[in-house]
Amino acid sequence: MRYAFQSIGRRSAGGLVGVGSPCLTLSVFVALALWSAAMAVADQTQAPSEPPEDGAARLAARIDKLHKKYGEDMLYAVDEKLKIVFVMGTDERTLAEVKQRLGAHAEALQRDLFKYGPKEYLSVIVPRKWANPKITGHFYPDLVDASNIGCNLIHEFTHALHYADQQGRNQMQPVWLMEGFASMYESSEVVNGHLEPKLNSRLAGLQRELKENKILPFAKMMGLEHRQFTSHHYAQANYMCLYLHATGKLPQWYAAYNEGFSADSSGAAATEKIYGKNLDEIQKDWLAWVLQLVPPPLGRGPGAAGMDMASKPLPDAVEIAQLTPEGAAAKAGLAVGDALVRVDGQRIIDTQDLVLALGRHQPGDSVKVESRRDGQYHETSVILSPLAAPPPVVSP
Ligand SMILES: [Zn+2]
Repeated sequence: MRYAFQSIGRRSAGGLVGVGSPCLTLSVFVALALWSAAMAVADQTQAPSEPPEDGAARLAARIDKLHKKYGEDMLYAVDEKLKIVFVMGTDERTLAEVKQRLGAHAEALQRDLFKYGPKEYLSVIVPRKWANPKITGHFYPDLVDASNIGCNLIHEFTHALHYADQQGRNQMQPVWLMEGFASMYESSEVVNGHLEPKLNSRLAGLQRELKENKILPFAKMMGLEHRQFTSHHYAQANYMCLYLHATGKLPQWYAAYNEGFSADSSGAAATEKIYGKNLDEIQKDWLAWVLQLVPPPLGRGPGAAGMDMASKPLPDAVEIAQLTPEGAAAKAGLAVGDALVRVDGQRIIDTQDLVLALGRHQPGDSVKVESRRDGQYHETSVILSPLAAPPPVVSP
């Protein structure tokens, strides 16, 4: 069986996104989670048996195939420790950053949850240009690709690590757990060697659905099959996993789950065991917990600090797509085509990062901006200006 997941329309779904511009009032709206997963099944019984090859020969054949597919305009790198072949439409500096981030992510997950790592090399692809803005990445057992090096890549990479753990345990775990882990960890940071997931853009939509009574009973969610799992279910799976994490139960839960896997692979029995309550009672506690969380801002209103520019997504930063003449960014020497890499020392990979970084400031504040032009990195200071009007929502 071969599984292929498509992650559809997560954050930064493409198009121009305005950041604090009084006259280029495009939206800082960030699409709420609109996801879907697809499962492709290939009949392996029809595959011709391949001659036995050693690991080095298999790796060489894989790299050769990737070169043919992605061309010479990409960076290729093999990381033996991580068992990853990188194919990146970025520069060397960003490649080093991605290696470091994926390494820390894998190490933390293996420390806290996953007992088994990948046996074979994984290909990790981030192209220069992403063809379909509605899909943000794919996961196959031996390859992940993503439209950016941030949450989209981390989502797919988490799938790959989780899949390897299941292979080692000889399990196929349910889709709520696969998408729940991947969604929960896509916005996370490693703190003292452990992954700390952050609240994300799915939360506001989930709270709305909870109030409208539109979410599934836990037992039903835990029993969903891949083909039944739609964009509608990601937020719930995300925050069911986050509840396990936030209540400090996740490692024990996963241990109990694996111990009882042959009797109940859905997760229901392990959840009841760990909390000492039945699923309905646990769901009530969960609901109250979700509703008191404060969602991160998805946009900024009039008067908020901005840079008088509109941006579009790159694989590893946001590009200035339009500038207000004499506006905040233009006055600081920034130009259309520059990539914004850091604001205030905070890494900017997608527009949501920029919204959060600018959201910590008031108009008139001076922020340090690191940008890239023609492959060279520069630092400058930008004095933020107020957003004049509420940004209208523009569909991508
Ligand atoms: Zn996924």
